[in-house]
Amino acid sequence: MSRATATLEVINPATEKPIAHLERAGVEDTDRAVAAARAAYPAWRAVKPADRARLLRRVAALVEEHGEELARLETANVGKPLGDSRWEMGMVADVFHFYAGAIDKHYGETIPVAGGVDMTFREPLGVVGLIVPWNFPLMLASWKLGPALACGNTVVLKPAELTPLTALRFAELALEAGLPLGVVNVLVGPGSVVGERLIAHPDVAKIGFTGSTEVGRRVMEGAAQTIKRVTLELGGKSANLIFADADLERAAAAAPSAVFGNAGQDCCARSRILVERSVYERFAGLLTDATRKFRVGDPEADGTDMGPLVSAGQRAKVASYAEGKAMFKGDVPAGPGFWFPCTLVEASNSDRVAREEVFGPVAAVIPFEDEADAVRIANDTRYGLSGSIWTRDGARAMRVARGIESGVLSINSNSSVRVVAPFGGVKQSGFGRELGMHAMDGYSDVKNVFMSTES
Ligand code: NAD
Repeated sequence: MSRATATLEVINPATEKPIAHLERAGVEDTDRAVAAARAAYPAWRAVKPADRARLLRRVAALVEEHGEELARLETANVGKPLGDSRWEMGMVADVFHFYAGAIDKHYGETIPVAGGVDMTFREPLGVVGLIVPWNFPLMLASWKLGPALACGNTVVLKPAELTPLTALRFAELALEAGLPLGVVNVLVGPGSVVGERLIAHPDVAKIGFTGSTEVGRRVMEGAAQTIKRVTLELGGKSANLIFADADLERAAAAAPSAVFGNAGQDCCARSRILVERSVYERFAGLLTDATRKFRVGDPEADGTDMGPLVSAGQRAKVASYAEGKAMFKGDVPAGPGFWFPCTLVEASNSDRVAREEVFGPVAAVIPFEDEADAVRIANDTRYGLSGSIWTRDGARAMRVARGIESGVLSINSNSSVRVVAPFGGVKQSGFGRELGMHAMDGYSDVKNVFMSTES
């Protein structure tokens, strides 16, 4: 419960109608939440691994039990298709199952040394601040909550102000699962107030951040004051490379969801479609046909591929990128809702639409000459998060995969995230890895103890 008095109106982007009014937390609330997390920390880190695992499994089970309710809440708040929200809630449950199982498999080592025994321990960090964006609100929070709690940390989670509803419901479910009070705290408030306070707070040991590169820079600067650890999952401008020898029909059928999925509000969006010049015209035709079939409309209706953007502000920002030579521009529903059409723009890699993260359903289509040119263009960006390579030549696929500067890649696939595999960026897409066992390293420190065996 917040002591703040300012209220926050939460909007359904498909109807533009308010769906909740919440209290907006401030600095004092943040300090109380950190104090609650700090008070809960000694007991939580002392919980036996098997018991902590049991509690996280119960969290997973409650998320499954309430999956439909959570999915509907996410769809109402973000505007994403219900099928997408259901998939995301499934992943949230899987994340808690995975990290429940990870707890007793994450331990230190013994190192042979002269004169004694050298051993390492995995220690939790303490109180961690988790700051997440609005595009995959609960799913991205779970990627941090799972490993943070599994390692024995307590957390203060700050969802984006636009999309706080599933985080709040999750906190109730965590309590119902039996997590002690103070282990999970959720604060709904502005980044400039609550976020900044978490970054500055001397009792917060780490900030796990997902969001824009600009705010990520600010997190890193602020965290330097107290030497906080940071994980930064930031923006992207990923390439979808279509080689002439690819299964062009399959690549074209997959391309719209790779960039227009979640209405393009996806850090992994393959928003630069790079096409080998010898098949450019043919692929452009296939891509246009596939994009025409991408169904834009009511996020709650069966078969919808894309809903509205999250806010009027986001729509205005996206519109500024849709200029240029349009290869295709789709339709949007009439009436209320922050709709924006699927848009394909013929571009060169130096155009603004190819350089900046649009975070909306606008793709830049760019020709390339050969393999070396494809890799050069793919790497000509400040980002390095994700991407796809479409080719039937396995050796080329591996050469290009090794040559592209990014944290995550897929070959003949759009897939970006799997619970068991590491996820994260290079260059200005950030650093640190989420998911898989790698995330456990990000929420623990290594302690080294030497014991002499000399008498
Ligand atoms: P944002 O950076 O504006 O906000 C992210 C979070 O930071 C929000 O909770 C916000 O309230 C908070 N915040 C804002 N200013 C702050 C400050 N000064 N101090 C502390 N916290 C502050 O991002 P957004 O618009 O919510 O989300 C879109 C961005 O997120 C895109 O750039 C996208 O690429 C990125 N993203 C990255 C990943 C990834 O895993 N790499 C995943 C999803 C989204």
